Amino acid sequence: MANEKEVVQRDLIILGSGPAGLSAAIYAARANLNPLILTGMSLHGQAATTDTIENYPGFPEGVGGSELGMLFQTQAERFGAEVIMDYATSVDLSQKPIKIESYAKEYQCESLIITTGADPRKLGIPGEKEFTGKGVSYCGTCDGWFFKDKDIVVVGGGDSALEEGLFLTRFANSVTIIHRRDELRAGAILRKRAMEHPKIKFIWDSVVTEIIGNEAVNAVKLKNVKTDEVTTHDTDGIFIFIGHIPNSELFKGQIEMDQAGYIVTNGVMETSIPGVFAAGEITDPHFRQVITSAGMGAAAAIQATHYLENLEAA
Ligand SMILES: Cc1cc2nc3c(=O)[nH]c(=O)nc-3n(C[C@H](O)[C@H](O)[C@H](O)COP(=O)(O)OP(=O)(O)OC[C@H]3O[C@@H](n4cnc5c(N)ncnc54)[C@H](O)[C@@H]3O)c2cc1C
Repeated sequence: MANEKEVVQRDLIILGSGPAGLSAAIYAARANLNPLILTGMSLHGQAATTDTIENYPGFPEGVGGSELGMLFQTQAERFGAEVIMDYATSVDLSQKPIKIESYAKEYQCESLIITTGADPRKLGIPGEKEFTGKGVSYCGTCDGWFFKDKDIVVVGGGDSALEEGLFLTRFANSVTIIHRRDELRAGAILRKRAMEHPKIKFIWDSVVTEIIGNEAVNAVKLKNVKTDEVTTHDTDGIFIFIGHIPNSELFKGQIEMDQAGYIVTNGVMETSIPGVFAAGEITDPHFRQVITSAGMGAAAAIQATHYLENLEAA
């Protein structure tokens, strides 16, 4: 006979241990719900992969990314949240209790908060992983400040590449936008602003094939896709804006999503399914910050608490 999986039941389960998930956990735990948090493969989420976070309020000197994640977790656990190192492999939202499977267990809950985040699309080239946080960045708002008076490159040709490139001119000495085509995908107004900006230059028809450095990035290797010519371009940093991938595969066909796969929520973090809430980057292709994700997590937990109270009262 096949081994039966252990079944774990809770009123509220939170999928994800990034800023959204752990903020939801703090609020739900303080509402006495004893929430269960499944961490997924990335304990404390994307924020934990960066050295220093300088824009989260309450830390005037900045705070380490993993230290902030640990502080969120400790605060949630203090009020009774249970953080489990496990990963959801399938989810059934079609009935209550909601069922979540992992390799070893089945979890059941009346209310679910989805905070599985979105990952920045990577170039997948040598040096990218090695120099992330040492000159490789996926967020101008987060890291622009570190590149005051530096020469940097931006990879991409869509709206976010140009928006972030224009933002980075506030700090950088020069911003060189590297694009694999000879025209930009971004909208007309952004295109005009970028083309006319005195600090912005373009390298067309080119892809970055390698990121080079010692302690930190000092150059990128480029290949012209039309001529195959390979060149080296000196730079202090590389900002990569080639899109994000929402971690929503598990929920496909079960819940309303937009075309890019972000879970659709209303103003109070409700999804198309009663009792299921979403928060943070899984529902936000726009702000992508620790504080905005944390705020959405708190809001989702407040709504989940009301949902469970109403169930009890019915
Ligand atoms: C290198 C880097 C530096 C950054 N620097 C800053 C900064 O300085 N300031 C700032 O405000 N923002 C910064 N950001 C952005 C910030 O980290 C994100 O906006 C924030 O982490 C999003 O929070 P989230 O909780 O929505 O998702 P995430 O942090 O992406 O967390 C998602 C969570 O879901 C879990 N998960 C995924 N799939 C499953 C599954 N199947 N089962 C269970 N769990 C699952 C993951 O393990 C993870 O714990 C940075 C991002 C990066 C990548």
